[in-house]
Amino acid sequence: MIDLHCHSLFSDGTDAPETLATLAEAAGLVALALTDHDTLGGLPRFLASQSQVKTRLIPGIELSCRFLAMEFHVLGLFVDPADARLQDRMEGLRKRREERNLGMIDRLCALGVPITLQEVAALAPTPLLSRVHFAKALVQRGAAGSRQDAFARLIGDGRPGHVPFQPLSIGEIARWSREAGGVPILAHPGRSAPRGFCWEEAMRDLQQQGIAGFEAYYGDYGPTEQAYFVGLAHRLGMVPCGGSDYHGANKPGLALGTGRGTLNVPDTTLAALEALRWE
Ligand code: AMP
Ligand code: MN
Ligand code: MN
Ligand code: MN
Repeated sequence: MIDLHCHSLFSDGTDAPETLATLAEAAGLVALALTDHDTLGGLPRFLASQSQVKTRLIPGIELSCRFLAMEFHVLGLFVDPADARLQDRMEGLRKRREERNLGMIDRLCALGVPITLQEVAALAPTPLLSRVHFAKALVQRGAAGSRQDAFARLIGDGRPGHVPFQPLSIGEIARWSREAGGVPILAHPGRSAPRGFCWEEAMRDLQQQGIAGFEAYYGDYGPTEQAYFVGLAHRLGMVPCGGSDYHGANKPGLALGTGRGTLNVPDTTLAALEALRWE
């Protein structure tokens, strides 16, 4: 069993990179990839744990983009964390996020919620602030009854306190990943588009833009969804990849390796990915 998708406290997970390595070994995983959102920050510590565990530790990243007017996520598996160009690109994303966050503070203040960036930062383990931390801060100051309420009324997509990012494109992310030695994989397609979405055509388009595979196995999929995506990968000649998307205590009930209990990503996926690394 392998797991090619999880998060540490360098993005929105709650475990340290070393802890993930230890948990992976305890779960009997053959391989684990760390794929934090928009940052390579946790990877040096994660890879340094390799001497302590038998599980193979694989570097990765998860980036967001817009495609067909929807938000899609792409994993760059095997990206080199020491790649200077990718590091510069991530630094650019961080600056973009910082400006967006200041914009959200202004909007919320104008809406009569005088929240400060310091309040939000105090609730985040790293300087990479996301709307999850905004939601926690809004609950803490009593401006929202729950995190869900904060998203529904204030900071969810299209709500008055939300400021969107200038989105990246799929082609751009695929190129960034490949230029850093990575294999670009579409994350959780079943969670990015509505039910009944025609994947056949969209996936061919993504393939042409450089996407090598997609998560046919995923922590949150049911058996029908998994069978559909495994079949689609075989029909299109793409790699059926997968992982739990473990976030520690931020996604309760989801375990490394087994997801909600039945996930089991085949070890053979690894060889298929390895073959693509050097193309
Ligand atoms: P950001 O990258 O700062 O725009 O924050 C995106 C994160 O906010 C996502 O990864 C989700 O975890 C969370 N999020 C976005 N929309 C919602 C929503 N409607 N309800 C709950 N969480 C959300
Ligand atoms: Mn996340
Ligand atoms: Mn994702
Ligand atoms: Mn993820």
